[in-house]
Parts: sequence; C-alpha cells; structure tokens
Amino acid sequence: MNVKILFGKPGAGKGTRFGALEDRDRFEQISVGNLLRAAVKNGTELGRQAKSFMDSGALVPDSLIINLVIEAIESSDKNDLVLDGFPRTVGQAYAMLAADILPSMVLVLDLPDEVVIQRSRDRVVCPQCGQPYTLNDFHPPKVAGICDDCGSELIRRKDDEEAVVRERLNVFSTETFPVLQVLSDAGIAVHTIDNTQPDAGNQFAELMHK
Ligand code: AMP
Repeated sequence: MNVKILFGKPGAGKGTRFGALEDRDRFEQISVGNLLRAAVKNGTELGRQAKSFMDSGALVPDSLIINLVIEAIESSDKNDLVLDGFPRTVGQAYAMLAADILPSMVLVLDLPDEVVIQRSRDRVVCPQCGQPYTLNDFHPPKVAGICDDCGSELIRRKDDEEAVVRERLNVFSTETFPVLQVLSDAGIAVHTIDNTQPDAGNQFAELMHK
C-alpha cells in the first residue's frame, strides 16, 4: 500500500489540486473533512458531535477522528491512498504511526495566509460528493454552479467565512504545523510546493505519480 499525505493550511488547495488530477480515480482519497461533512449531513452521532467544532473553525477531537481514519485506510481496496486532512494533530500522527501506517511522502502545499483568505472567498463545493471548484477561472465547473461529477448544485462552505478562515489558520499554525516535524522525524520524505507558482500543478502531478 502506498500512502501519501496532502498537507497544508485549510484552503491551500489540497482538494482542488487533487481534484484536477486526470487519473485521480486511481487513488483512494480519504478526505476527513468530506467524511465529517457527510456525517453531519446524514445526521449520524459522529456528525452531531463534530458539527459545532467544524462550524467554529476548531478541530474535531482526536478521539472522534483517529479510529475513523485508520479504519478507512485499512478497509481501502486500492493500492494508492491519499490522506487529505489527516494527520492534523501530533496525537493523530503518532496514532497513525502506531497503527503501522507509514506514508511514503508528505506533499506540502504552501500559500501565504492572505492568499488563503482570498481563495476561500472564491471557493464553492459540491454538497453531494465534496468536489471543490473555484468561482474564478482556475478550476471552474463546466456549467456554472453545477458539479461536473454528479450534477448537484454547488454551495459555499460555512467555514469559508472570513472570521472562521482566520481561526482555522490559527489552529493550523498551533496544532497542525508541528505534525510536519513528527513525520519527518519518522523518516517520511517532505516535499514542499509553493502553490502560488504557475508550475505548481505540474510539480504536484509529478510527485503524486512517484
Ligand atoms: P477540511 O475540509 O479538511 O478543511 O476540514 C473541515 C473541518 O473538519 C476542519 O475545520 C475540522 O473542524 C474538521 N477536520 C477535518 N480534518 C480533521 C482532522 N484530521 N482532525 C480534526 N478535525 C478535522
């Protein structure tokens, strides 16, 4: 099993870059945010517990996340897995390593905070399948307001509101950024892409195919 981690500030473009890969179906994408949003939408116990954390920009407690993600990884029938939004705390990183899940690399998408805030303003997502699109001409849907993949009407995420984005950026620097050190200490290769550069998409695709 080849596991890759997509790492970066919320809104740095992880889901968007992955969604723009031509052969993305080859990979099993485990997006914790999408799993949680589906749980909220379906009104499950997990969704009920996670919702207030998500709406305020906080992280959902590790106790609700760790087993959810480890089970999703272990039950995957694909060989290539992409973790989008995990691990986001040092505790999650240690739990992943303790479960003998040793990713082959971390792809860091790097963006200045002000660019993240602008991009959050420009983002819409599919409420059905989670695919993100942009309102600018970077990665728009083929038909305005409609998901290319499943035809649902696109929406703005509540946590893309500016105050929530700023809170999520704070949480990233205090709780998530230290995860990089844990992963690199475990011997996992860390590749950083400057996601403001025109060539970032090519660099991303190249690393995803390594
Ligand atoms: P995302 O779509 O990845 O930006 O995630 C949306 C929200 O889901 C985050 O702001 C958190 O509240 C929650 N979330 C996603 N991944 C995690 C995680 N690994 N640990 C805790 N909370 C998470």
